[in-house]
Amino acid sequence: MNALIRVEDLHRHFTMGDQTVRALSGVTTTIAAGEFLAMMGPSGSGKSTLLYLLGGLDRPTSGRIWIDGQELSGLDEGGLALYRQLMVGFIFQSFHLIPTMTALQNVMFPMVFAQVPMAARRARAAELLTLVGLGKRLDHRPTELSGGQQQRVAIARALANNPRLILADEPTGNLDSHTGEEIMALLVRLNREEGRTILIVSHDPSVTDYATRALYLRDGALVMPEVEAV
Ligand code: ADP
Ligand code: MG
Repeated sequence: MNALIRVEDLHRHFTMGDQTVRALSGVTTTIAAGEFLAMMGPSGSGKSTLLYLLGGLDRPTSGRIWIDGQELSGLDEGGLALYRQLMVGFIFQSFHLIPTMTALQNVMFPMVFAQVPMAARRARAAELLTLVGLGKRLDHRPTELSGGQQQRVAIARALANNPRLILADEPTGNLDSHTGEEIMALLVRLNREEGRTILIVSHDPSVTDYATRALYLRDGALVMPEVEAV
């Protein structure tokens, strides 16, 4: 198997006063390049924590993560920032667009740090917004777009630096079910047609219909789907 992600005995504990929350307690798994993986589990089971660790937005308490053979804990802050910029596209439940920027400017933004020249940034952003069906909304600001359209802008932005890995945290959580299905169909296209590896976190069982495989988290540990179904 062509492993893109390897996680070994991953722990993430949060200490608050005299309390320790074990958000992840010993996750070991392998994810292949080209998978569309659904990461399922109830609220508080550690899904977002795992996604943030894989995306280099957080560091584990213990355990190891390899992405494409490179160990994340071996990277300093600069290396981790570069990893986030070039390897990973993030999509969040609440879109996280910059409200003062147009759709085009939001999608151009990550390319500034990747030092793409201005004209190329503009051309690629327009191309990506066309890909997600917003070619006629380039100059709209987030408040002038529907929730589904805002999430499409966020997806275009996630693709800006051509990441191999897309990490999506409840991307349909703020959308009605029809719009949610459209967003899922778009993610499926990015997986099937462009070969991007996608990890989508959700507690909505219908997400597994789109995925090539599902992992189930409970209390910070992976469990068998049979256990989840009981
Ligand atoms: P999920 O995404 O599955 O709902 P999370 O990964 O967000 O779950 O959280 C898992 C557990 O870790 C929860 O009990 C949550 O309260 C706790 N947790 C997550 N992030 C933090 C944090 N920054 N500080 C303290 N506790 C946290
Ligand atoms: Mg979460």
